[in-house]
Amino acid sequence: MTLVTTKELTQSAQRGQYAVGAFNVTNIAMARGVVAAAEANCSPVILQIGEKQLTNYVPLDLMGTVMLTLARQAKVPIAVHLDHGFSYEVIIQALKLGFSSVMIDASQTDFATNIAQTKAVVQVAHALGVSVEAELGPMNREGGGTTVDYRQLAQTYTDPQAAERFVAATGTDLLAIAYGTVHGIYSQTPHLSFDRLQQIAQLVSVPLVVHGGSGLADQDYRRSIANGICKINYYSNLAYTVANTVKQKLQQTTTQVFISDVDNWTQQLVQAEVSAKLQIFGSAGQA
Ligand SMILES: [Zn+2]
Repeated sequence: MTLVTTKELTQSAQRGQYAVGAFNVTNIAMARGVVAAAEANCSPVILQIGEKQLTNYVPLDLMGTVMLTLARQAKVPIAVHLDHGFSYEVIIQALKLGFSSVMIDASQTDFATNIAQTKAVVQVAHALGVSVEAELGPMNREGGGTTVDYRQLAQTYTDPQAAERFVAATGTDLLAIAYGTVHGIYSQTPHLSFDRLQQIAQLVSVPLVVHGGSGLADQDYRRSIANGICKINYYSNLAYTVANTVKQKLQQTTTQVFISDVDNWTQQLVQAEVSAKLQIFGSAGQA
């Protein structure tokens, strides 16, 4: 099909009352698994990689080239997105490579700085026809030595009036918001605030994004979509589940095994996991 923007994909999702899955990929097997799932389900999808994953796993030019090639060859519309861009330099690199979408995450800064940094990215990205996702929250993170106090989580939920002002001031195409999800693997069952999500959706017309979207209950996905979520970021649970299934397969295999076998398992497991989510997100059949 073709490389498309996240704005196009999520505006269609907004009209059709479904959500587009955005899956972080850090190697070729994962990326091919996501695309195979999208094609098998006639679903649009977003391939993405986060700035921190570039430092930890694979450089942007290498992985970005793979993602863009897969998107251009795919039979379904695919957006290639930089997730959690923190530095202007990395965002510019993604734009230069040909990404169709970038995220500027200045959510840890104060409101005025977040607006200023987001506006700067919107200006250059829009000049190139590229979509922008920004975040107003901020989102909490589990793992890496950090635990979340779920009782205090409500204090960091996105403020609806601030979200309205933020979107108007920045011109962002998508807005990531906080209403009870956290990044990483959940140590407790999350209790999402659908009231807060509804309040934000009433004031903000751009497609809304949920981060920390892996590991939620199916009914939480459905209620989130029904209340305005159009993009669901899905990574931690995917990476963890696939790795642990590969681990079991390695332990059970008595014949010779090669790294290329691990690649094939990874691709198949990612495809199965992503296919199941595309069905739940309602994007299956929408390509
Ligand atoms: Zn995120």
